[in-house]
Amino acid sequence: MPPAAFPARASVVIVGGGVMGLSSAFHLALAGVEDVVLVEKGALGEGSTCKAAGGVRALFSDEINIRLGERSLRTFEEFGTQFDQEIDLHQVGYLLLADNDETMSAFEENVELMTSLGLAARTVSVADAKRLSPLIATEDLVGGLWSPRDGHCTPESVVAGYAKAARRAGVRILTGTEVTDIEVADGRVAAVRTSAGMIATDAVVCAAGAWSADIASWAGEDLPIVPLRRQIAVTEPLGVDLTGTPFTIDFSTMFYFHGEGRGLLMGAPEATDSEGFDISRDPDWLETLAECMDRRVPALGDVGLQSGWAGLYEMTPDHNAVIGSSDVVEGFIYAAGFSGHGFLMGPAVGEVVRDLYLGKEPFVDVSPMHARRFHNAGERPERNII
Ligand SMILES: Cc1cc2nc3c(=O)[nH]c(=O)nc-3n(C[C@H](O)[C@H](O)[C@H](O)COP(=O)(O)OP(=O)(O)OC[C@H]3O[C@@H](n4cnc5c(N)ncnc54)[C@H](O)[C@@H]3O)c2cc1C
Repeated sequence: MPPAAFPARASVVIVGGGVMGLSSAFHLALAGVEDVVLVEKGALGEGSTCKAAGGVRALFSDEINIRLGERSLRTFEEFGTQFDQEIDLHQVGYLLLADNDETMSAFEENVELMTSLGLAARTVSVADAKRLSPLIATEDLVGGLWSPRDGHCTPESVVAGYAKAARRAGVRILTGTEVTDIEVADGRVAAVRTSAGMIATDAVVCAAGAWSADIASWAGEDLPIVPLRRQIAVTEPLGVDLTGTPFTIDFSTMFYFHGEGRGLLMGAPEATDSEGFDISRDPDWLETLAECMDRRVPALGDVGLQSGWAGLYEMTPDHNAVIGSSDVVEGFIYAAGFSGHGFLMGPAVGEVVRDLYLGKEPFVDVSPMHARRFHNAGERPERNII
């Protein structure tokens, strides 16, 4: 069949085919919005989404994030039935490790907040932390924070599930097509220019992850989002089944690991932050990783690494997302800047974007996430960025 003609008009154009764009497109079309067009410059998921470690959690220090995380967990739990797509969800828990009393006090506050919202989280002793995640060295630890419902799943499968469902619901997905400009007339969105032609539209959803600042600037909106490289390594098989290993995080270094079949997937920040769009792998990072491993999982000192990759976090000044409808240009909606925890929020944020577009109350009030907070000195810090 010849490809359908390029769409000259859309009710809404979504920029970005990661989890945010796809989930938003799916929810809009499911709600009956016709002529939804999603434009992705490369392949679906090839931005940050398919570079994620796959962690899914409700464990945040910010109430809105907890609610977005919990709502998304519900979707991940039902993904196979709802989208006819298995996502290899392992609800092995998140375990955060504290090596000082101040962090432990913050964990206690976190438990209070999670409990007040009806979620199961608790602090654990060092012995319990070791029982939950047996590979860890514990000499310097004072305790941990345990969130049993959390875990990890496969980003590629989530992308495939949403893409399939969005297409079925009538979304037009244009891959290999770059958005190059946004036309604004009389203070509102009028059209989107792409490498394949112009699409007239009244509404744009910016779901372009780490690339969102540029896209927003074309519409006259200021989204303070900076790309930050993060790297991952996967070990060779370790000869034992590690699928039950919790998503374990050394809170003071942000070194983390979880089971990946018979191996481990591991991540850690770089010794010096590398901002920008370069996602080449930096061999120096392996030294940083080795130091983190030596400190927290010394028994794995000699383990071989089988694969790895680098991707981009999309950082905002307070490490919290920007979600809202622009004050500056009518018809410009954004959901970006998830600062390294956006994969897990995709399902819920898609629902929120749908409601912002339809002018309905979302299930959680996201107004504190509006970009105007950065102009009003109202930052909203999230502590649990991992
Ligand atoms: C190493 C690593 C580990 C991570 N681990 C986790 C984790 O465990 N859990 C978690 O929740 N999050 C994790 N994240 C963060 C997570 O990947 C992101 O927050 C999330 O994927 C953001 O999704 P998105 O759809 O907003 O952005 P993206 O997936 O980046 O999608 C944006 C898309 O926009 C496209 N685009 C950009 N510019 C244009 C243009 N001009 N025209 C058309 N298309 C354009 C890009 O090609 C891209 O595909 C991790 C990230 C990294 C790098």
